[in-house]
Amino acid sequence: MMEKETAVTPTHHVRSWYGLSAEIGVENNLWHLVRVGQVALPHPPAVNLALRRGQPRQERLYLSFLHEFGHLQTLPVAVLHALWLLANGRWRRRGFWGTLAAVVAHEAVWEMASESYVLIKAKGEYGRIYRRHPNLAGRFAFWSVMFSLAFYLTRWLAGKNEG
Ligand SMILES: [Zn+2]
Repeated sequence: MMEKETAVTPTHHVRSWYGLSAEIGVENNLWHLVRVGQVALPHPPAVNLALRRGQPRQERLYLSFLHEFGHLQTLPVAVLHALWLLANGRWRRRGFWGTLAAVVAHEAVWEMASESYVLIKAKGEYGRIYRRHPNLAGRFAFWSVMFSLAFYLTRWLAGKNEG
């Protein structure tokens, strides 16, 4: 178990559809890294832990790699959401909690965008893996938590309900 968890897979050199190059390292099954130039973006393990629970190493690494690549590929979606918040949100008026909510909502949107990318990219393979290793609780937790955070925080920040 320890042996497996510390194993490091080779770094993948990838290029996004909009031309940005990056390196992706799916390390020790838990912490993943997307490196764009000199900027390293470590990915928290919680998401892949929840989504890939009970899957064999190979499947886990495959889907986790696609998820990290998904972050790169869907970066424009995350940027658009952030710009929209900046333009429409009242988060600045809400001080610390507003800023925190904006960051969390932004992350939640990006997580859903990345996993949607995995779904689209792995297509039949995604379904096969999850049929063999059903992880309903983990998937339900991911989508419901991320959707709720993204939806309710964005709505709160947009100030549609209150002043
Ligand atoms: Zn992610």
